[in-house]
Amino acid sequence: MSSLPLVLNGSRCSFVVIGGGEVATRKVKTLVRSGASVRVVSPVVSEEIQALADAKSITLELKAASDETYQASDYVVLATDSTQVNQAQADLARQAGARVCRTDEPEDNDFSFPAVIDRSPLKIAVSTSGSTPALTRYVRERIEAFIPDDYSRLALWMESLRNRLRADGSSKERGQFWRRWMRSQAPEQILARHPELAEAITEKLLSGEDEVRGEVFLVGAGPGDPDLLTFRALRLIQMADVVFYDRLVSPRIMDLIPTDAEKIYVGKARSDHAVPQGDINQRLVVEAQQGRRVLRLKGGDPFIFGRGGEEIEELAEAGVPFQVVPGITAASGCSAYSGIPLTHRDHAQSVRFVTGHMKDGTCDLPWNELIHPSQTLVIYMGLVGLPEICKQLIAHGMPSDTPIALVEKGTLPDQKVHTGTLTTMPDYVKGKEIQAPTLTIVGSVVNLHSKLGWR
Ligand code: SAH
Repeated sequence: MSSLPLVLNGSRCSFVVIGGGEVATRKVKTLVRSGASVRVVSPVVSEEIQALADAKSITLELKAASDETYQASDYVVLATDSTQVNQAQADLARQAGARVCRTDEPEDNDFSFPAVIDRSPLKIAVSTSGSTPALTRYVRERIEAFIPDDYSRLALWMESLRNRLRADGSSKERGQFWRRWMRSQAPEQILARHPELAEAITEKLLSGEDEVRGEVFLVGAGPGDPDLLTFRALRLIQMADVVFYDRLVSPRIMDLIPTDAEKIYVGKARSDHAVPQGDINQRLVVEAQQGRRVLRLKGGDPFIFGRGGEEIEELAEAGVPFQVVPGITAASGCSAYSGIPLTHRDHAQSVRFVTGHMKDGTCDLPWNELIHPSQTLVIYMGLVGLPEICKQLIAHGMPSDTPIALVEKGTLPDQKVHTGTLTTMPDYVKGKEIQAPTLTIVGSVVNLHSKLGWR
């Protein structure tokens, strides 16, 4: 079922609840809290509904619902204990143009009620569109646990600060200020019931005195699966004001970046250098000098064939503070997710990571060092060089039946592992549409894939 969560302005909605039992009572109470106008239609109702009617919190019609009950603008909640009645009333309500929630048949809903974690004015809604209430409850409990009741106080405090800034016509009433505020100690101080300390921090931020100094986070995003990020990577991703990213950072990791952070693509397709390396280095310096938190997000590990070293060299020279967060490199990710251990006592005692560039049909690799027996070879580079690599390894003495694997889109949901030998692989790839990125693994460990491949 596809669905779209929306937030309704309760005071502008009119709800009609059909039924007066337990389910109806629960819904009526939720609706009254939202400030909506509520009409209950049922020949018999619970004491609680009657009390709400007596207090004029709702209007009550003690009769059976009919086609005259509904208006086009109504949200209708069908909560009788009879499926037939609910069905018949749903038809009548829809004929009148109203929208319907069936408490007994979620598949027939025009709208449904999410589970709500209420920290007013903060509200968090959890919904599986009525399809799996147990999961809704479970997720809600988990969120309840780490968004304590105090968030209500925090939200109210922020609301009043926002109103104050608006009234002052302050230009601080912008995303940048609030991002900094959220990351300062102020929210913690409010939660800890020290509003005076929060006030002091806020004043500092407003006066610019506490200007956050710019910094660069060089972060390894791993090979693609977001679950392989480190905790620190995630924390820094969420703090970024501006993000420089390239082609290897998977879309699901991009989704973790705050929506209001500026995102700048500096990716490189093989021959098409979107932004020259020198320019990237320079832009990192400039952005940080303007006081921004700059996230340089790189596929895999920034220090393995990632030019991370070059980028921070320039930062160091300019005196810009930076930190480096390691990521899972493609070799580790592809090895684990394809069931090809890079070392194994029966196969390989060492492993070598190389990358090469194709120029004029040749590849600049130290071939004699690569053909070592009992060594696994991991080659970071696209498919272009593959036939040349296989040819050169054989020419320099590696047995032509040495196993070779290509891991296509390693760790991503559509990962594929292709295996063969130095002799067969060049022809094999010709007929296939293999997509970037791909990692090549050479050595007898590749034979373990058929037994240890677990995905
Ligand atoms: N810093 C990165 C490597 C950058 S070089 C790291 O540590 O992983 C780019 C090469 O890495 C690609 O050409 C490809 O060979 C390899 N690569 C990166 N991500 C990959 C993935 N998810 N699956 C397969 N190969 C990958």
